[in-house]
Amino acid sequence: MSIIQLENINKYFGKDISKIHVLSNVNFKADSGKLTLILGPSGSGKSTLLTIIGGLQEPSSGKVTINDVNMTNLANKKKDSFRLNNIGFVLQAYNLVPYLNIQEQFALVDKVKNNNLSQDKLDKIFDLLDISKLKLKYPNELSGGQKQRIAIARALYTNPKIILADEPTASLDSQKVVEVGKLLYQLAHDENKAIIVVTHDLRLKEFADNIYELADGKLNLAK
Ligand code: ADP
Ligand code: MG
Repeated sequence: MSIIQLENINKYFGKDISKIHVLSNVNFKADSGKLTLILGPSGSGKSTLLTIIGGLQEPSSGKVTINDVNMTNLANKKKDSFRLNNIGFVLQAYNLVPYLNIQEQFALVDKVKNNNLSQDKLDKIFDLLDISKLKLKYPNELSGGQKQRIAIARALYTNPKIILADEPTASLDSQKVVEVGKLLYQLAHDENKAIIVVTHDLRLKEFADNIYELADGKLNLAK
């Protein structure tokens, strides 16, 4: 069974005449060891879909199964700990803590979860992402692209089976996109992670094992 399974997902926002149907009978599976890309224009529902996959919001109807656990039935507290132990998120807002420097952001993760990556592995990821020199900086001292790469490193730090990334390359130049694309591909293939990236960045296509397109609420396999 696939590590991620969505069955007949629908998502509506608003009501009456302002009701919009953002996701329409979406069926989707993703496997460990694969990098899956979900492409779609702005407003097509990519962030909504990704946050439903990760249990950050509920679908209006349908079933989400992650690692054999039916997320739809999981109580909030259990869902939080399930997420912490299984899923790494790279969200658009980066979610860095403003009053902690970069090194401290990672120490904070150690306070809430054990068995994170070794310092050696983390250093390698920092080098690959070209952020090693930023360890003592605070988020407001960094560019969008630097914060984006730190958010990627932080999502990987907990060594999750599943990585969900929302536009992780939006602020990156093309050379950095190649580094991030290669890193995600390598993590999927060498470390058997299931990686889902939602994006409108076509530069990531060459790194993907599977590509889906989201349009008019429908998700279709494109590769
Ligand atoms: P994308 O990430 O592809 O740009 P989103 O998933 O953010 O798209 O949004 C899809 C649609 O759903 C948009 O029309 C957006 O305005 C709407 N939407 C998203 N979240 C909410 C919300 N919490 N309340 C109302 N409408 C929302
Ligand atoms: Mg979005």
